[in-house]
Amino acid sequence: TPLLSVRNLKRQFGKAGPAAVEDVSFDLAPGEILALIGPSGCGKTTTLRMIAGFEPPDHGAISLRGRDITATPAEKRGIGMVFQDYALFPHMDVARNILFGAREKTPQTVARALSMVGLDGYGSRYPDELSGGQQQRIALARSFAAEPSLILLDEPFSNLDAALRHATRREIRALLKNAGIGIIIVTHDQEEALSFADRLALMRDGRIVQHGTGQQIYDRPVDAFVATFLGRTNLVPGTARGELCDTPLGTVRLAAPAEGQVTLSMRPELLELQAAAEAGNGRVTGVEFKGHDMTYWVDCAGREMQVDVMNGPRLGEGAAVDLSLRGEAVVLRDPA
Ligand code: ADP
Ligand code: MG
Repeated sequence: TPLLSVRNLKRQFGKAGPAAVEDVSFDLAPGEILALIGPSGCGKTTTLRMIAGFEPPDHGAISLRGRDITATPAEKRGIGMVFQDYALFPHMDVARNILFGAREKTPQTVARALSMVGLDGYGSRYPDELSGGQQQRIALARSFAAEPSLILLDEPFSNLDAALRHATRREIRALLKNAGIGIIIVTHDQEEALSFADRLALMRDGRIVQHGTGQQIYDRPVDAFVATFLGRTNLVPGTARGELCDTPLGTVRLAAPAEGQVTLSMRPELLELQAAAEAGNGRVTGVEFKGHDMTYWVDCAGREMQVDVMNGPRLGEGAAVDLSLRGEAVVLRDPA
């Protein structure tokens, strides 16, 4: 059985307008890390708050280990929640912060929680004596001390600077994986979602548009919104006839058979450029040097395409090129 099961959650603030969360369903396996991602305002925080018990759903059901907790008060759910702003009590030392929600209020509880986050001996410090990264780890230690089977993290690393953020999230991921606790992390950072989570659920307008592993979503986005939210892509029109599709770059293979007018996604790194012997099917309109690779902007039948090249021929602006696709194009469900 799943650790957490969420079915048809809905939450509307006020009478008019669209719901903050329209219809959200998913399962979380024990020890699994799920990232909830999507643009600002799509309903991520509201979803977490309903799972934690801070916000009552208008509709839908939440169960934890097969037990319905939809009407259970927050403090009885055994779910930890860590927010972006840590929310440590400034007038309490670290030990008292940790013991605040703990089931067993003993010095061992504090020692165990501190050791899990690699901050042994910090019990008598006050929050303002800690760095941002340390405060964030104490907030996590505090949620561990309550012995939850599930922890919800809302933008937990967004107050940390880039370098610290990377290191902290690696440490915390290892720690959570060891503890076997289920995690839902909300982030607007796609790289963070990809590196931290086992699976991703991408939300838009209060609904999950696609879920799966990062690789599944990146390789087979269902629509243009997903394809451009997770990575960059080229949207190309085509006429499909089964496994093949006629496009401005010639005939390409499709990841799944289709018929008629379609919109395709072609990732920039799957496109290839060659200096054209004759006219070619494209012309270089811009070159962007990015360090480890380059992006070429190529006009192809009046459409601007992005092509990422690691070690290719150096082509200047205006060069005539042959543009081709390595691998398969993905048919999106957007109208052509
Ligand atoms: P996200 O975390 O994805 O940015 P939120 O869940 O915070 O999105 O918000 C979803 C929508 O619900 C937004 O339009 C937001 O303005 C609205 N909303 C969130 N909380 C409240 C509230 N307490 N009262 C009224 N509207 C809210
Ligand atoms: Mg939010």
